[in-house]
Formats: sequence, C-alpha cells, structure tokens
Amino acid sequence: MSESKDFLRTIVEEDLKSGKNREIITRFPPEPNGFPHIGHAKSICINFGIASDYQGHCNLRMDDTNPTKEDTKYVEALKDAVQWLGFDWGNKVYFTSDYFPKIYDYAKELIKMDKAYVDSLTEEEIREYRGTVTESGKRSKYAKRTIQENLDLFERMKKGEFKDGEHVLRARIDMSAANMKMRDPLLYRIRHAHHFRAGDEWSIYPMYDFAHCLSDYIEGISHSICTLEFENNRDIYNWVLDTLGLELPRPYQYEFARLNINYTVMSKRKLLELVNSGQVSGWDDPRLPTLAGYRRRGYTPESIVNFCDQIGIAKANSMVDVSQLEFCIRDDLNKKVPRVLCVLDPLKVTIENYEGSEEIDASYYPHDVPKEGNRAIPFSREIYIESDDFMENPPKGYYRLTLEQPVRLRHGYIITCKEVIKDADGNIIEIKATYNPESKSGSDSSGIKVKSAIQWVSAAAAKTIEVRLYDRLFKDEAPEGIEDINPDSLQVIKNALIEPAVITEKPDERFQFERQGYFYADPIDYTDEKPVFNKIVGLKDSWAKKTKATENAPKVQAKKVHIDGEVTAMNEAQKVLFDKYTGEFGLNSEVANTLARDEDLSSFYEASLSVLNSPVGLANIVTNEVARELKQMQVSELKFTAKQIAELVKMVDDETISNKIAKQLFEEMVKTGENPTQIVEEKGLVQISDPAKIEPIIDEIIAKNPDNVAKFKAGNTKLLGFFVGQALKATGGKANPKVVNSLVADKLK
Ligand code: ATP
Ligand code: MG
Repeated sequence: MSESKDFLRTIVEEDLKSGKNREIITRFPPEPNGFPHIGHAKSICINFGIASDYQGHCNLRMDDTNPTKEDTKYVEALKDAVQWLGFDWGNKVYFTSDYFPKIYDYAKELIKMDKAYVDSLTEEEIREYRGTVTESGKRSKYAKRTIQENLDLFERMKKGEFKDGEHVLRARIDMSAANMKMRDPLLYRIRHAHHFRAGDEWSIYPMYDFAHCLSDYIEGISHSICTLEFENNRDIYNWVLDTLGLELPRPYQYEFARLNINYTVMSKRKLLELVNSGQVSGWDDPRLPTLAGYRRRGYTPESIVNFCDQIGIAKANSMVDVSQLEFCIRDDLNKKVPRVLCVLDPLKVTIENYEGSEEIDASYYPHDVPKEGNRAIPFSREIYIESDDFMENPPKGYYRLTLEQPVRLRHGYIITCKEVIKDADGNIIEIKATYNPESKSGSDSSGIKVKSAIQWVSAAAAKTIEVRLYDRLFKDEAPEGIEDINPDSLQVIKNALIEPAVITEKPDERFQFERQGYFYADPIDYTDEKPVFNKIVGLKDSWAKKTKATENAPKVQAKKVHIDGEVTAMNEAQKVLFDKYTGEFGLNSEVANTLARDEDLSSFYEASLSVLNSPVGLANIVTNEVARELKQMQVSELKFTAKQIAELVKMVDDETISNKIAKQLFEEMVKTGENPTQIVEEKGLVQISDPAKIEPIIDEIIAKNPDNVAKFKAGNTKLLGFFVGQALKATGGKANPKVVNSLVADKLK
C-alpha cells in the first residue's frame, strides 16, 4: 500500500474504526458492452486493491441491464483482464441480471408504499415536464394512478403487453428538487429485447439508478466506489435504499475522478467505432488502450498496476500524460528482459581480413540487472549492420561507422570501413571492411578509440523475423476520432534479422533489441517458421523530442504530478452551476464539473454564452483549450476574449470551418489575438463542403493508389480510412470530413 493514504482508504479506515463496517466489500461493476480499457484498470486497481488492503473482498459484477448492447464475449474479456492484472474475485462472477426477480419485487414494494408510479408520458413530454434548474418541473397527470392501478400496469408491463416506450415506472420523489436527477427518476422501462443471459423472460429492464444500489445491497457491498459522473446519482442511490427501509448495514457510494490520458480515446463506444470501422485489427490491436491491446503488445500487468498506483486517486478530473505509462513499462522491462541484437534495416558488411567463424560468448543482461544467462553469438566474414549506422557524409556528432571512423560491433570486434559499394542508382548496398583481431570486446588491446558500439548479426546464422513497429494511434493530444488518426501508427518490417539464440533458445518472450526498444513475441501470430515481434515501447521518449523540435506542436499540458486525492465537496454556488450545466444545458458531468469548480472558467463560459447560444460547443472549447491557457496565465493576460471564442464556435456550428481547423485557429488566436473571422478570411481556412470541389481530389487519390483500391475491393475495408485521411491531408484539413467520408464510400463501391 502506498505510504500516503488516498481519500477512499481514509474513509474505509474510519468506517472500520467507528464500527460502521466490520468487513470491507467492494465491487467492480462493468457493463459487458465492450472490452475494458486502461481506465477500467484504474477502477479495478482501486476496488480490488482496497479490498485486499483491508482483508476484505471485491466482487466482479457484470452490470448487464441493457440487453441490446451486451454480449458474453465481453464478459470473458472482462474476466481475462481482471485476472491478467493479478486480481482474484473468488469463486463466483456476479450478474445484475440474476437479481432481476428481486429488483422487480423491490419495485412492487415501492409501488405499494405509493413511492413509485407508472407514467405514460412520451419521452419528450417527460423531458419537458422535468423543468430546468431555475424552474420546477411538474408532475405527470398519471402520477395520480392508484396503487392498485400501478401494480396492475406494472405487472402487465412485465408480461410484455405494451410496446417499448408506452409506459415507464418512476419514483415519486420531488419534481422541484434542486438536483434534477431527483425529479421522479425512471426506475424501469419497457424493452422487448433478448437478453444474453435472461433470455426472453423480461420485457422490462431496471434503470442503472435502481438496479445498481439494490445489487450493491443484495451483495452486502460496504463501499460502492464509482467515477465522478455519478455524483448526482448518489441522492437517488440513498433515496432508494432509505425509502425501502432495508435492514442495515447498507452500502454507501463514493466517487473518484476518471482516468484520462492524452493521445488516447477512452470510452468503449469510441473504441467500438474504431474496431467496427476496421481502423484497427480488433479489440486486441496493440495500438488500442484496451487491456487486451496492451497485453498483445507486450505490456506487463505489473507495469499497468504500477501506473495506476502512481497516478493516485483524486476527486478532480485531470489528464495524464501517456509518456507516464510508457515510462512504467520501460521501467519494468529494464529490470527483467534479455538484451539481444537485431537489425531492422540490414546493410551487408564483408570483413575482408576475417577467415572462418567463431562464437562469441555474451551475457543477456547488463551488470546492473541481477539476472544471469549467456548465449553464443555466431560471428563470420559476412555480417549485417543497421543501414543508418553507416554514413558517407556524417553530420557533426555522428559517432557510428564512417569512412574515417571505426566502430565497435557490440560484444565483438572493432571494424573499419575500407570501401563503399553502390548500385546503379547510387544506393549503398555493401561495405567492405576490416577488423582488428586484438580488439575483441572484453580483451581489447588494440588501443583503437571508438565512440560507439552497434548491433549486428552474422549473415549465415541470422534468422529472419517480422517486426511490427507501433506508434501512437492518434497524433492529436485530445483526439476526436478517425480524422486524428496517426497514419504512421503501424509499420511492418518483414525482413528484419535477429541473432539465432532468440529463436532457438527462446530465453524469454520479451526482449530489449539493443538500441531499438523493447519487443514482444506476438502471442497470436508468432510461429517458429515465421517469428513475429511487436514493438512494446522505444528506449526513450521519442515524442518528447519531436514535440520540442516542432515549433507548432501542441504544448503538453498533462499533469504528471502524483495527486493524492483530498475530498473537496462543491459549495452551494458551484452545485447550482453544476446542476444548471448538466440539467438545462445538457453538458456531460465531467465538463460541468470542471466548469462549476473553477470560477475563471465558468465566468468565461457564461460571458461567451451571452454572445452565442451554443452551450455544448462553448463548454468544450472552454474546458479544453481555454482551460489549458489559463493554467499558465491569468484571465487578464489572455490574448483572446470570450466574444472571440463565441465567434469561433459559431463558425464551427454553422460548418464554416471544421473542428480540425478550429484548433489551428485557436492556436493562432492565442499567438496573435486577432479576430477569428479575420484569420479565417486571411488564411482561406473556410471548410470545403461542396462535393464538386472535393470529388476531383478524391479521384486523384484513387487514381494514384490502384493497389489500395484493389485491396479495398478485395475486402480490406480498413483502407477506407486511408483514403479519407489522404483527402483530408490534401486539403490541409479543410475538407468537411462528413462529405469526404460519404464521397469516398460512394466512389469505392
Ligand atoms: P465507458 O465510458 O468507457 O464505456 P463506463 O463508465 O461506461 O466506461 P463501465 O463498464 O460501466 O464503463 O464501468 C465499469 C467501472 O469502471 C465503473 O465503475 C466506471 O466508473 C469505471 N471506469 C470506466 N471508465 C473509467 C476511467 N476512465 N477511469 C476510471 N474508472 C473508469
Ligand atoms: Mg457506460
């Protein structure tokens, strides 16, 4: 357990000390509608971690109340993930659907107490009647139904006598409650759908707010830990359990901040889109933030658990830098894996003064890794080195092989270049070299000074392998979707060469290919005949360098600090704002939470709203872009005004500019303080939505890529993204992605 306690463990300890709870029982309650991602890992670590720290138990519960989206394959994926992370749920997986009969009985209890009624308003009317934050709602006329009528209707709903949406069951709470969620929340809805476990028995399904608290109660959960977006649902949670007057002890709900990571999308819905669109090879594509993806890529469970531990548990939402996760895997593998030699882009070197062959004994591990193991590396006259480890006209500071500069072959001899052989086009195809017999690593008496050692393999003994190099799936810090995909996120090298011991001895599954990075034998595609390795992560953070080098690259604002959460409840004024934002404006609770808690942000937001009535669009830019700027300066130092931000959002709303361009435009405003409309005019950034203007561009791309067209037509639908991406690129991001998408799809039919 970490030294400083987080706020959840503080609560748990107090509850144990005061005797409120004798045993700590938590639960991890995913909905089986997708593969779990690293955000779920955070929740798994918290729930299982707390249970184990206090000798309690954590239930794995499938929250399967939405029959249309759920599936057993997701149940299996969730079990796999929890197990892989090293946690134990005991001998039974729980399912909310197992409690359907009990939950139904509790609903009847509420009806009998006149605390619930069958409502028959339409969905739209229900929304209308709910009122706003400033106005009370009004109760439906159906709320006057007698208990007997309600019991009868509810039973007939269950039997399937009504159509979807015809009736709902609602709690009778308070139509003028400040917390909008308490305005007679829905408890049950009609859904004629097949459930993957309950079959066709039910025509009604309980809502999250009703099913969750009761499932917790039925299982004897002590602490029901969830993410911040459920903060306002806590009142319903308490109302249901208290109103039913259940025997104590009963569970209580606590909220923590979701994990967000930059350059990553983190919602099962968005991940499902990527999988369905064929942008990735499946839920376990090594570029996805799913646990199956990290696992396939070669991440260790320890590295993920360490990461979750490092980021801590807090009450305020923040963004974690993806390089922090990369650090954790590097840190873990550094202590564990053998170092071997692999050449990704081979260049032949003939050592003219060497005869015969020998085997060089070399340790798999450097001195500072407390592991033992050696292998023999075959050495002979013909070897391969990495193409870019030789340069004819090296820049200053190049320490590898050149015409003048000798280099050491790692674990072996020093070689000197004698001659460069080129093909008819002037490409270097071979190096003729000599070696110094006195220079062997470990017994070097040659006196030659070299500046570096490079990897190499013997031509005769090396094994050919496929190497899959992965880079970030998104090139944007806060990606939105397909248009932000990094086109170079996967590079496949078919003919890399590796020293034979890796294949024949199999000293491990994970390796450091010296000077290249960490690699993993692909658990699915690897065969002895055709070995395949995935790049897990590079040896250092290459993106940090790139970001510094590129002038216009977005500033990485992610917080790297280890935050130990403290409980900061919202004050009254903040609560009022929060309710207004979620209720009246329809913002999601994370965005509303960020705004409500920060006075600068909320005033800026309100000011922009007074110019443009676009609550969602404005909230997004204010909580992301504007908030980022305000981390570094005061409101008075901003170069742009709330009015200008409204102008910008207006152009997005009316599709004058694309979302993509909006970001560029914002960067420009940050720098110059110019008016957005003016910048758009000056720079010609207006979005191109006219199909007639986009068509020729697509035609050209199609004409230029006959191979990809053929592959697409042969069934490789993943390439749709390729064509769309190319078209967007060709227009500098100005083409309307929707239009491009539909045109490309049409033309490739
Ligand atoms: P998604 O939006 O990705 O579908 P969800 O919240 O709907 O996620 P569930 O399957 O309902 O996913 O979640 C199971 C548990 O995991 C919940 O307690 C939820 O709060 C938690 N969880 C989901 N995403 C995150 C995240 N990014 N960080 C921390 N916990 C998360
Ligand atoms: Mg969900």
